[in-house]
Amino acid sequence: MTCRDLIRRTAEQFSAAGVPDPVNDAALLLSHLTGLSPLSLRLDEDTVLDYRVVDAYQVLVGQRISRIPLQYILGEAPFYGRLFRVDSRVLIPRPETELLCEWALEVLRNDPLPRILDLCCGSGCIGITLKAEKPDAFVTCSDLSPDALALAAENAEQLGVDVAFCQTDLLDGFATSGFNLIISNPPYIPSADCNTLQEEVLREPRLALDGGPDGLSVYRRIIPDAFRSLVSGGVLMMELGEGEDADVEKLLLDHSFTSVEIREDLSGIRRMILARKP
Ligand code: GLN
Repeated sequence: MTCRDLIRRTAEQFSAAGVPDPVNDAALLLSHLTGLSPLSLRLDEDTVLDYRVVDAYQVLVGQRISRIPLQYILGEAPFYGRLFRVDSRVLIPRPETELLCEWALEVLRNDPLPRILDLCCGSGCIGITLKAEKPDAFVTCSDLSPDALALAAENAEQLGVDVAFCQTDLLDGFATSGFNLIISNPPYIPSADCNTLQEEVLREPRLALDGGPDGLSVYRRIIPDAFRSLVSGGVLMMELGEGEDADVEKLLLDHSFTSVEIREDLSGIRRMILARKP
């Protein structure tokens, strides 16, 4: 069977299993094993694959049919131009979080030697990206999950980026303060919705998703504590769940933050918020 036929047949199996992007995933899994580009594999009508490659491919195909996320099978996900290792210990980095990083870098542009805290760091994608893009920053990444922190530390090492790690429950008992920027993509999905997510998302750690009864529990804890841990003029930036912007804005204003700004993601959802400590 040629590459093209194999991909076509696999894409049909994926469609039948409800995999959202069947042709793309079929080609990417084969690309992962062969090192050839997904597009050239889709067009290839000549190469007859070694049976060992086909066998290895069938194992990955079986995993994808059982709706394990593509990125967990590949063991990596791209984020802001770098590849991060990912597995079931951490949330898979999303494109909307890249926009949050882009915005943070804009905010920090004229800020020399900023002290940054990435709360709920997961894979470390935010904190590691900020340090890589702004090497004069001092970055600390913190998470409640020791498993997530272990993977984030692997990512920092693999990408050659020097950040500090700290296992904490948000800012509880956090000794350091004086941050110029606290940034977070916290869990923000209402608990009741956590059971009805897309099958792939159900494979991601519940701890990284579940934002309590109304989705806002973690914002309620972060906001007052972040206010204490920021320098005056310091900035808090957070990703938001859909429809949560007005509630989070009110929480920020109730806790003496000012200069609130909100930005949309690429689907036009009000996805991230910034506020300043006066
Ligand atoms: N900061 C990580 C990310 O943006 C993890 C977020 C989380 O675990 N809630 O992907």
